[in-house]
Amino acid sequence: KDVAVVFGTRPEIIKLAPVIALLGDRARTIHTGQHYDAELSGQFLTQLGIGEPDEILSGVGGATRGQQIATALLALTASFERDRPAVVIVQGDTNAVSAGAQAANYLGIPVIHVEAGLRSYDRAMPEELNRVVTGALSDVHCAATPHNAVNLEGEGVDPARVIVTGNTIVEATLASLAHPLDSGSAIPAPAGRYVVATTHRPENTDTAEALTRVLEGLRGIEAEVVLLLHPRTRAAIERFGLEHLLSGLTVLPSPGHAAFLRLAADASLLVSDSGGVQEECTVLGVPLLVVRRSTERPESVDSGHARLITPDLDIAEAANAVLRGFAGDLPQGSPYGDGTAARQIADIATDIAEGLDPLDAV
Ligand code: UDP
Repeated sequence: KDVAVVFGTRPEIIKLAPVIALLGDRARTIHTGQHYDAELSGQFLTQLGIGEPDEILSGVGGATRGQQIATALLALTASFERDRPAVVIVQGDTNAVSAGAQAANYLGIPVIHVEAGLRSYDRAMPEELNRVVTGALSDVHCAATPHNAVNLEGEGVDPARVIVTGNTIVEATLASLAHPLDSGSAIPAPAGRYVVATTHRPENTDTAEALTRVLEGLRGIEAEVVLLLHPRTRAAIERFGLEHLLSGLTVLPSPGHAAFLRLAADASLLVSDSGGVQEECTVLGVPLLVVRRSTERPESVDSGHARLITPDLDIAEAANAVLRGFAGDLPQGSPYGDGTAARQIADIATDIAEGLDPLDAV
């Protein structure tokens, strides 16, 4: 087990699962403990075939980002010193990614960043700073799209270290759609036309005003709206006393990946502030409204699958326009690659672990 794969949240588990499967016995899975609960972690580890991680860091947490990153950095440093991996893989833009890249880099262990080069250029987003820090520390940057590679090169990253692999979400989505679902985990699809919504980003959940706008927007949609409630959003609704804004919506706890995708695939429209859903909508061929100030995934907008609904725009009006058919036909094919990203990333990691230069091999 000489390839350490670090993850701490739902999207990292989903997008690293295909890489971990291909690495087989080589993969040493390390969960930072950031989302270590059944809803956001356990059901994904089981369904996506990762099972119990090799290591689950304890004591990681704290109220501030600094505390979270610092405690994870210390715990990962201890783990890597105890048993030094040949290479460390991190994915995306969470605090776990920043800590994983720092711990490896400071010990001189090569870092592969999966989903490198995304930029929203919105420095108020914690994820943006995690992306920039991780980009600065990584040795191999696996960019999902040519646009991501251009972003990195614009920051002075040596183009020879940037490999456009596509995003592992393509194969993760196809695998989860094919995953058998028992009646206990599947969500019965509403009888008529319906919309699937998710929200959890701080910009939509940290103030009563922002959360009210999103919930009111969903209530104004002229179709059944299934709102899959992230634990963070559930807590915010309780904190601000906004439970009354849920009436008229079909509210369910966040399901696992296969159940989510099956429901989303047959929806008329998705409304979300999620990063991963912006990619998945291009594989599913379902239109998406991105309820955010900015996006680091302009490819989904450019391909016509997604539209950015900034705070000055009316969510219900935009949604109803799509439902009335004003969005036009969506193109076939995803801008996030052909489903070979995980294979390429596993090969790069294996080359490094075997002492080969992966940048020569690609
Ligand atoms: N997802 C899920 N169940 C849900 C909502 C989302 O499995 O109820 C999946 C979704 O398919 C996507 C991932 O979670 O692959 C996105 O994670 P999240 O929105 O937490 O993070 P982000 O992508 O915004 O970083």
